[in-house]
Amino acid sequence: MKQKTMRFSVLTEKGHAEVRERPLPEIGSHQVLVKQLACNICTTDYGQWLGLREHQGYPMAGGHEGAGIVEAVGEGVKDYKPGDYVAMAYDGCGECLACRQGDVLHCKDAASLKSKTEDGYLGAFGFADYYVRNTRSLIQMNPALNPSCMAFLEPLATVVKGLKKLRVQPLETVAVIGAGTMGLVNAQAARALGARVIVSEIMEKKIDTARGMNLEVIDAGKEDPVQAVKKLTGGTGADAVIIAVGADIANKQALEMVKETDGRILFFAAGYPAPRLEIDSNLIHYRRLELIGTYAADTIDFFTAGNMLNTGAVDVSGIVEPVKYKLGDIQKAFQAAATPGMYRVSVLLNE
Ligand SMILES: [Zn+2]
Ligand SMILES: [Zn+2]
Repeated sequence: MKQKTMRFSVLTEKGHAEVRERPLPEIGSHQVLVKQLACNICTTDYGQWLGLREHQGYPMAGGHEGAGIVEAVGEGVKDYKPGDYVAMAYDGCGECLACRQGDVLHCKDAASLKSKTEDGYLGAFGFADYYVRNTRSLIQMNPALNPSCMAFLEPLATVVKGLKKLRVQPLETVAVIGAGTMGLVNAQAARALGARVIVSEIMEKKIDTARGMNLEVIDAGKEDPVQAVKKLTGGTGADAVIIAVGADIANKQALEMVKETDGRILFFAAGYPAPRLEIDSNLIHYRRLELIGTYAADTIDFFTAGNMLNTGAVDVSGIVEPVKYKLGDIQKAFQAAATPGMYRVSVLLNE
């Protein structure tokens, strides 16, 4: 049975998302029709809904953390067949230098980010019941996983990119500041690479979730996280620190809990307003500190992230909020996602 139209969510202005219908695009030669099962609400999605990221533009048919099942394939498709489970990676023109080097987010064309569809929409149409996608923008997923967990492919890929830049080695100690969604994805992925991971967090719910993942956790409301990391590492400090919450205090703690010489700090999170980093540059020199930034992911990182999810090396089932929302509840879903202390809110698109 071939679908003729698709239902999708569109953000028309700050605080207002609605469901619309449009004709479903034809399936091109290297494209597949995806019955989309789940799309999770990213910080960048609800940030725009809150009015914090309006530079992204309207009307935004967003959602980029999605997963679903292939329902039909174009005539040139070799790697996918109906019934395959897939999750979304980035999509670009596929031909420019950035795309060919795997840095699809910086595609000159960036179809899904900067240019509009013929009918005037921005976005990757993650919050849609059906969509036609280029095969190069998909990663095959293990059918045994819950679709809301498959949808962690993109956030995990950004973590893989960051850990690569941080050069985490087996048996190193990595401290993660913040046990929010991305803090815990970082923690699990660093552990999967063989590191000893220590997580610092203030909020009780998040401390419990981190402990539920068998992570070493510092209750930063009860003890000084810098002293605690020192104590747990015999006075040395962490080999590397991942800042997974955008805040001045987190920046300050990272500089103090990383080991004295040759320590590395990864700036994983952004914050609004932008956090400040105060440092005497002589210290970067004498301590041989490395301050490393990261954002987004390259194509290769999506494959690594897919393997980590598909094999269970990273298990995100504990950081999907149990209350699920349907496409028609998109306003309520954004509201929930924007509530402090929430893990990923998942929208189920075909229920
Ligand atoms: Zn995201
Ligand atoms: Zn391109």
